[in-house]
Amino acid sequence: MKSVGIIGAGITGLTTAFCLQKRGVPVTVYEASGRVGGAIRSVYQDGYLADFGPTTILETTRKIAGLFTDAGLDGRKLYSSEAAKNRYIVCNGRPVAVPDTPVKFFLSPLFSLKTKLRLLIEPFIPPRRDEHEESVAEFVLRRLGREFLERAIDPLVSGIYAGDPYKLSVPQAFPRLHALEQRYGSLIKGQILGAKERKQRDEIPKMLAPKVSFDFGLSVLTETLAAKLGDAVQLHSAVKAIARQGDTWHVEFIRNGTRVRAEHSAIVFAGTAYALAELELRAPERIDLSQFAKINYPPVASVVLGFRREDVEHPLDGYGVLVPRIEGLKILGTLFSSSLYPNRAPAGHVTLTTYLGGARAPELALRPEHELVEITLHDLARVLGVKGRPTFQQCMVYPKAIPQYELGYGVFRAKLTEIETSAPGLFFAGHYRDGISVGDSIMSGCRTAERVEKYLSANQQELPAQSRIVPA
Ligand SMILES: Cc1cc2nc3c(=O)[nH]c(=O)nc-3n(C[C@H](O)[C@H](O)[C@H](O)COP(=O)(O)OP(=O)(O)OC[C@H]3O[C@@H](n4cnc5c(N)ncnc54)[C@H](O)[C@@H]3O)c2cc1C
Repeated sequence: MKSVGIIGAGITGLTTAFCLQKRGVPVTVYEASGRVGGAIRSVYQDGYLADFGPTTILETTRKIAGLFTDAGLDGRKLYSSEAAKNRYIVCNGRPVAVPDTPVKFFLSPLFSLKTKLRLLIEPFIPPRRDEHEESVAEFVLRRLGREFLERAIDPLVSGIYAGDPYKLSVPQAFPRLHALEQRYGSLIKGQILGAKERKQRDEIPKMLAPKVSFDFGLSVLTETLAAKLGDAVQLHSAVKAIARQGDTWHVEFIRNGTRVRAEHSAIVFAGTAYALAELELRAPERIDLSQFAKINYPPVASVVLGFRREDVEHPLDGYGVLVPRIEGLKILGTLFSSSLYPNRAPAGHVTLTTYLGGARAPELALRPEHELVEITLHDLARVLGVKGRPTFQQCMVYPKAIPQYELGYGVFRAKLTEIETSAPGLFFAGHYRDGISVGDSIMSGCRTAERVEKYLSANQQELPAQSRIVPA
C-alpha cells in the first residue's frame, strides 16, 4: 500500500484525501491551523447561522452531488428556495431585479435603450483572434458597451471574485466566456449553440446549476469529510519543507513547536498560493516558489447581521443584491441568507450576509469590527430599508480571501505544470489553480485523486501502510 501526504484541509485537500481513501490509498492530511474547512466556516449561535466564507455550492456536475452522497450527506443537503432565482442589482440607490428573460431585459430599468439595442448587434461584432490577453473590462466594453460593464459585469465580478474587472483576465478568470467568443464568434450565439455540447458533457451552466448547502451550513461538508478521514487529519501541522529523494517524498512540518519529518509516496499541495511561496521544495535540487507570493489575494470582510423581519422593508425575495462601483456605496453586496435556506434565523427574524473590501476597497475590510457593522448598517438602510439595531451580529475578516486571476496569471499556472513535470509525485490542486469556487475546488480534488492514483500505479512502489513519522 502507498501513502500520500496532502497539505491543507480546506475543501480541496479533504476531497482529494476522501477520494483516495475510498480507493484504499492511505493518506495523511496536514493542516496548519486548528480547524478544517479553510475558507469554509459556519457558526450557529442564538438560532442564527452565519456562513462567513462561501454560503452555497453550485452543483454543476454529478460528481459534486456524488461526493455528498458518498459522504452520507444526502439527508442533510438543502437546495435553495425558489426565490433564490431572483437577483438584484442596485440602480440609483434601490435594488432592481436582474432580468431573466429577453422580454424582461427590454423592459428593465437597469439599462438604457442604447445598451439594449447594443445587445442586438453583439452577434455581429467580430471575435478578437490576436494574442492580446484582454481584461474583463476590455472584453465587455468591446462586445457589450460601457453601461453593461458598469451596471452588470462590475457587480458580478465583485460577487464572484471580489475583484476588479479592469485587472481580471478573461481567459484566466472567465475561460468559458473566452471560449464562447473563440468558438462561436459571439456570446449570444455561443449561449444558444453551446447548450447541446454542455448537455453532452453532462454539465449545467453555473447560472442554472442547483444551489446547495446543508442544514447547519457548508462546514457540515468539511467536518463530515474530516470525520470520515479520522486520524489521517493532523491539525496544528504546518508543512515547511518537502523534498524528493528517489521515489520517496519527505515532508517536514511543525507540531507543538517541534520540527517533525514524515515520508510519503506522493504529495498534494492543497493550500494557498501565498503559503506555497513560503514552502521549501527540493526535487532533488531546490525549486524557488517565491514568485507565488505575487498572486493578489485582497482582504474581504463578512458581516452577518440578524434583524427582526419588520425592521427590513425589502421583501428579501431573492438570492441577494449586488452593488456596482458607480453607485458609490461601500458594501460589495448582501446575501439574503435566511431567504435561501431554512434554519438561518429564528422565527420572525432574518439573516443578511454582507461583504466589504475586495479589490475595490481592500483597506475597508481591515477596519475594526464596530466600524464594519456601522458601515454595513448605513448602506443596508439605503438599499433595503433596514431600520433599528441588529438582533445578531458577527464579523469575520479574511485578510487574504480570494486569488485574483489577473492579467498574466497564466504564467503562474504554467509554472505549476512545469514543477509537476520536473518533480514527479508532487501535485498542485485547489482554488489558486483550478477555479476559485467551492465546486471548482471539489472537482480539482476529485481530478487530483485520479492523477495521484495513476502516478502510484505507474510507479508500482510498495510503501508501508502508514506514513512513517519520526522527529526531524
Ligand atoms: C469571503 C469568501 C466568500 C466566498 N464565497 C463563495 C461562494 O459563495 N461560493 C463558492 O463557490 N466559493 C466561494 N468562495 C471561494 C471558496 O470558499 C474557496 O475558493 C474554496 O473554499 C477554496 O478551498 P481550498 O481548499 O482550495 O483552499 P482553502 O479553503 O484556502 O484551504 C487551504 C487550507 O490549507 C491550509 N494550509 C495552507 N498552507 C499550509 C501548510 N504549509 N501546511 C498545512 N496547511 C496549510 C490552510 O490553513 C487552509 O486550511 C468564497 C471565499 C471567501 C473567502
